[in-house]
Amino acid sequence: MIYNDALWDEIEPWMIEIRRTIHRHPELGLETPKTAQLIEGVLDDLGIEHTRPIANGVKAVMGAHLGGEALLLRADMDALPILENNDLPFKSEIEGRMHACGHDCHTAMLLGAARYLKAHESALTRPVVLMFQPAEEGPGGAVPMIEAGVLENPKVKEAAMVHVSSELPQGVIGLREGPAMGACDDFSLSFLGRGGHGSSPHVGIDAIYVAAAAVQATQALVSREQDPFDPLVISFGTIHGGFRENVIADRVDLTGTIRSMTPATRARAVKRFREVMESVAATYGATVELTMEPGYPPLVADIPWSHRVKDILESEIGAERIQQIDPTLGVEDFAFVAERVPGLCLNVGIVGDHFTTGLHSAGLIVDERGLRSGAAGFAALALRS
Ligand SMILES: [Zn+2]
Ligand SMILES: [Zn+2]
Repeated sequence: MIYNDALWDEIEPWMIEIRRTIHRHPELGLETPKTAQLIEGVLDDLGIEHTRPIANGVKAVMGAHLGGEALLLRADMDALPILENNDLPFKSEIEGRMHACGHDCHTAMLLGAARYLKAHESALTRPVVLMFQPAEEGPGGAVPMIEAGVLENPKVKEAAMVHVSSELPQGVIGLREGPAMGACDDFSLSFLGRGGHGSSPHVGIDAIYVAAAAVQATQALVSREQDPFDPLVISFGTIHGGFRENVIADRVDLTGTIRSMTPATRARAVKRFREVMESVAATYGATVELTMEPGYPPLVADIPWSHRVKDILESEIGAERIQQIDPTLGVEDFAFVAERVPGLCLNVGIVGDHFTTGLHSAGLIVDERGLRSGAAGFAALALRS
């Protein structure tokens, strides 16, 4: 069983040290030059060839000479604009930035797998592509890397990513086949009415009343039009408008997000949302300006590939560490990879004794013992799939 290989006893502390170094120096979005350099330095030390398909994204290939179609393993590199609220020796050294989504762990796990695979290079039966991408938290690094050819030379046949999970105990790997993560469409809209004196609303067009009606009407799209077995969420995140207590507001601005799980529901929800916003505005004599910003598509894990992955992980990581998990409406830009080749996510548990809060929070504390499962899981897929 790969998980029990004594080599992990050497790789594990080395991998944790890499994770801590990245954790101390978080970088945002597409601007991840130091993280890319660190990755390249480690790959150089291991003697693994690498290139930069995009400015701060790294692609490495192992076993290229074997020919045939490749397995792609993906880690993301970017942090979040969060002020870390932890007292750790390796806490973020950049104020207002933190690896609160665990991408430091993902990069470390992929490098851990790379070191293990280097030691077992003769056992590889096909090429393995290691993809280190920036900007998962936005604006997206997967699409530029795909456009730069990360799925070609060697041609990628299947793919897998890791993400830490703050819902699973450390070391457990959660799998979800089929629709696994959501699609995202963010919107901003403004209702435009006509201002006036608060004592005479009939003379104006009250944009606050229109906005309130629109917020109410939106939830009917979820509760009355949507199949309850096909998830849809519409959330307003901000609402701003008005001047003072006795003035009819001439304008209200709102923003929010639409989350769905299937392409059909996604298209329908975006269309119906626009129709309802326009008709509510028209009902009350106002106008609406609506901008939709399409985000990531749903992450749909290929079912035959998921079954193969589950079998491999159960025998190489241990069936007691593999769990089926529920889908989530969180989003993931690896979905663009999984639209093109069979793909799935290994959700690696990081909940341990000191766990406090979940991902994207300033107090996230990762139980680093979980990293071994993710790295060994990646290595198992490379050697057994
Ligand atoms: Zn995140
Ligand atoms: Zn993330």
